[in-house]
Amino acid sequence: MALENLVPPPEALSARPVPAAGKKDSSMATQTTVSLAQETNPWEAQAARFDTAASKLNLDPGLWKVLRFPQREIIVHIPVQMDNGQVEVFTGYRVQHSVARGPAKGGIRYSPDVSLDEVRALASWMTWKCAVVNIPFGGAKGGVICDPRTMSQGELERMTRRYTAELIEFIGPEKDVPAPDMNTNEQTMAWIMDTYSMHMRQTVTSVVTGKPINMGGSRGRREATGRGVSVVCDEALKHLGMRPEDTTVIVQGFGNVGSNAAKCLWNKGYKIVGIVEYDGGLYNVNGLDISELLEYKARHSTIHGFPEAEAADKDDLLTRPCGILIPAATENVLTSLNADRIRARIVCEGANGPTTTVADEILAANGVFVIPDILANAGGVTTSYFEWVQDRMGYFWTEQEVNQRLDRIMSDSFTDVLQYAVAHNVDNRIAAYMLAVDRVAYTTKQRGMYA
Ligand code: NAD
Repeated sequence: MALENLVPPPEALSARPVPAAGKKDSSMATQTTVSLAQETNPWEAQAARFDTAASKLNLDPGLWKVLRFPQREIIVHIPVQMDNGQVEVFTGYRVQHSVARGPAKGGIRYSPDVSLDEVRALASWMTWKCAVVNIPFGGAKGGVICDPRTMSQGELERMTRRYTAELIEFIGPEKDVPAPDMNTNEQTMAWIMDTYSMHMRQTVTSVVTGKPINMGGSRGRREATGRGVSVVCDEALKHLGMRPEDTTVIVQGFGNVGSNAAKCLWNKGYKIVGIVEYDGGLYNVNGLDISELLEYKARHSTIHGFPEAEAADKDDLLTRPCGILIPAATENVLTSLNADRIRARIVCEGANGPTTTVADEILAANGVFVIPDILANAGGVTTSYFEWVQDRMGYFWTEQEVNQRLDRIMSDSFTDVLQYAVAHNVDNRIAAYMLAVDRVAYTTKQRGMYA
């Protein structure tokens, strides 16, 4: 059967048609042609960037279709006994976009906003991200629709274990290796590792990354995404002729990525003037003491009320002048609604998908230097790769070894992306996609189509 007949019609995944190879797809390109709902659909955003990159690469039409869609999508309905004795059923997803370059790899998020389109987009971003930093993984993502803030530890554990059990034949060190994402953490990974190990009748530490260090986690993994963000910021500053001590930074999201990025940059002498959380922000024109803010948050479980800063409106803070704006919270933060008011010299995307395609164009027109998510936040998966390697060797590296290897991969990848941008006269995001799609397409073609 011809490949075309095996590929689901584009309408099944997206309202957008697959453009003919070699033709530029511009359906997401102008503000007037898309609604806000289309603009903020992460799958649409991913597909638009992929199509542009594929077009610029003159990608073979068959490969275009293969890489445009996820390889496998799994939906599970998970019964969980709640603490009050009632049974609730949660819907969970695992999408494996590609295994061309190695086992699928990607986080699991718990949130009321999880949707299949979001998980699809995140899975494909993982494929591109692993290829940008040239590590031997494909891409996957998982999510469960739930509100972890209203659930007890016992409920979260039972839900996590049953979700893992439902996915048991699809995950594994050589198949698909989950990791933490929004609202999941080292404890979640410990439960998944234990559940998988119970089914396999042996301890299999390399089935997940982002584990606690005492059970096969890697030193430096917790801080890795934020550290990677700081390395690409350093590289961008060198490229633009700026200096850390003269560079102000506003960070959105003070969770794993945002707080570690803020801490690393603060340690390097950058001035962190603003932190934005979902319920408000903090601002200090002279710079915040991030070490004290972290201690304050650990004591009070919030950043609000921190004495060394003024309270600020969360939306207003994103649009204040700064050297670097780091969206490190969630998707669709910079959109057609606010992109023209962004006054940062650099936007460094700690989060996945914080900028829509329409916002991309506005930022480009205003000369903002964007370090795209699939490069900027790849430090997490890079150190996850180190964790997987260490687990399989049974030999663990020092934090210094981990960080040195991470820093080198992040700065080399920044250079690779910038070279693509110059060579093909495209912005950094499309350059990163082109680099990634080129690598994945090359391997897919070389492996051939299994009939
Ligand atoms: P997290 O749950 O640890 O932190 C998220 C933070 O953002 C929290 O402090 C939360 O209160 C805040 N937040 C949520 N919605 C917000 C909003 N609308 N406005 C302002 N603040 C908001 O999650 P994380 O692991 O830091 O992940 C953040 C982003 O980074 C996600 O997009 C995730 O996919 C991406 N990411 C994470 C990693 C990782 O290693 N953790 C790696 C790559 C990418």
